[in-house]
Amino acid sequence: MSDNHYDVIIIGTGAGGGTLAYHLAPSGKRILILERGDYVPREKANWDPQVVNVDAHYNAKESWLDKDGKELHPHTNYYVGGNTKFYGAALFRLRKEDFGELRHHGGISPAWPISYDDLEPYYTQAENLYQVHGNRGEDPTEPPANSPYPWPAVSHEPRIQQLSDDFARSGLKPFHVPVGVMLDEKNPHKSRCIRCNTCDGFACLVGAKSDAQVVCIDEAIKHSNVTLLTNSLVKRLETDSSGRSVKSVVVERSGGVESYSADVVIVSSGAINSAALLLRSANDRHPRGLANSSDVVGRHYMGHTNSVMMAISKCPNPTIFQKTLGVNDYYFGSEDFKYPMGHISFVGKLDAITLKAGAPAIAPNFTLELMAKHSLDFWLTSEDLPDPNNRVTIGRNGKIVLTYTPNNLEAHQRLQGKLKQAMKQTNCTMHGHECHQGLFGRHLYVGQQIPLAGVAHQNGTIRFGHDPKTSVLDPNCKAHDVDNLYVVDGSFFPSSAAVNPALTIMANALRVGDHLMKRLGVFQAERTAQAVMAQV
Ligand SMILES: Cc1cc2nc3c(=O)[nH]c(=O)nc-3n(C[C@H](O)[C@H](O)[C@H](O)COP(=O)(O)OP(=O)(O)OC[C@H]3O[C@@H](n4cnc5c(N)ncnc54)[C@H](O)[C@@H]3O)c2cc1C
Ligand code: SF4
Repeated sequence: MSDNHYDVIIIGTGAGGGTLAYHLAPSGKRILILERGDYVPREKANWDPQVVNVDAHYNAKESWLDKDGKELHPHTNYYVGGNTKFYGAALFRLRKEDFGELRHHGGISPAWPISYDDLEPYYTQAENLYQVHGNRGEDPTEPPANSPYPWPAVSHEPRIQQLSDDFARSGLKPFHVPVGVMLDEKNPHKSRCIRCNTCDGFACLVGAKSDAQVVCIDEAIKHSNVTLLTNSLVKRLETDSSGRSVKSVVVERSGGVESYSADVVIVSSGAINSAALLLRSANDRHPRGLANSSDVVGRHYMGHTNSVMMAISKCPNPTIFQKTLGVNDYYFGSEDFKYPMGHISFVGKLDAITLKAGAPAIAPNFTLELMAKHSLDFWLTSEDLPDPNNRVTIGRNGKIVLTYTPNNLEAHQRLQGKLKQAMKQTNCTMHGHECHQGLFGRHLYVGQQIPLAGVAHQNGTIRFGHDPKTSVLDPNCKAHDVDNLYVVDGSFFPSSAAVNPALTIMANALRVGDHLMKRLGVFQAERTAQAVMAQV
């Protein structure tokens, strides 16, 4: 067998690929990981809002096209660890009901081919692996879990605690957001995380965020059977003459083209790039794109309807780590609106530099600097529904084209309305109800919503399901049309739910990893023995 042949090739090192690599590494199988990016350089600029948020220094340096052929610069990151290097590490389980069919104001959110109970053990494993800090029992929509969070929740700072108390007094059930940061509040002198204000959207300079590089890839490559090639862009997958098996992975690397093969090939390049890779890999046997007899590859793109709303108060908000509070009371609806609305939480604390890049309407008597000092910066997420016409295609010069028409917007507007109402009821001891000055959207975003280039929560383009006519992957995330091809990034989602996606991608990668272990003839005992040997 040639040196370029492996048992497993994994393409991409983000939440899906990185987690799977970690899980398979102790198997002893020869594993090749291909990542188009490099490591995020460790430099002071990692934590500089001007460099990160205004100059977009770490964003992908390519352009895609929208449906009208206009260029868009995607807010996505190509590095070891993928987008988890920059994520806010809010690590939520989907709700149990999200796995079934749900009726929304804008239409139907379809059922998944697996149930919450199928994924529950893997959610627990993923929470342990990514050191999630949270408190069970606070979130009114939380699904049942078989064990507590491995770490207690990250505490609220005083301004957020005050808001939480206000919300609770008005009848809401605010909760601590589960987050993957390596913070040890009981032993601050030993804590790897220093609880800083540059976490959400920034790479962690001290390696204390639970991202897929630090937690998974760094550990996986300690095993001698695992090879990571960075700066290796996968261009195409080629099949054998039957079309049933991927026989070579074509890679652009160091200015040349290389070819690798494996018994099992796993695509995990992010929902948009994975779909693009399959479409670009069309051949005689797969004329519409690899594994695309259903014509579903690239379709049903979802990315959530998100918005950032700044609530300005007379009282200042000196919070450093703001992403600790969530409200899910409206997730499934309310008395006056019987459809799901979504989830309310926070982004990292906004500062004046970042605000200049997307200046909000200025509150009366406030400057931008003053607004940044007084704002509570909310993050609102509503579910967008899978529409076959919202899709990834390949356009002129081989560029990615992202066609998207927002849907289910009434749910999001209602959610914004609920937040407005809740903020009006806040009652501070110094200014009473007058403390709250209003809600302001960041005007960077058309209609106050994150624009198309904001593809942070991309999912759904290579959906899994039982029926090969309506899905690309089977319930094990293997392509219906190809015997050795799997996809484990966010593309497999049949619906987007309304909580952040990363923990579900990680848990599913662990689930698919168990299936692959059986397929490759690796047994749990053997894996455990090898894991122990690797640590000796
Ligand atoms: C600023 C920001 C904040 C976020 N905050 C949160 C949060 O708080 N909670 C949450 O759950 N989610 C959050 N997300 C989303 C989360 O990061 C993603 O859902 C998750 O990383 C997706 O995992 P993935 O495996 O699908 O893809 P990615 O993590 O994007 O990984 C894909 C990998 O594939 C590589 N790749 C792409 N194409 C190729 C190719 N052709 N050849 C080789 N390699 C390739 C990429 O470089 C990348 O490393 C956030 C995202 C961003 C950008
Ligand atoms: S808050 Fe902690 S994990 Fe986040 S960037 Fe700062 S040190 Fe890193």
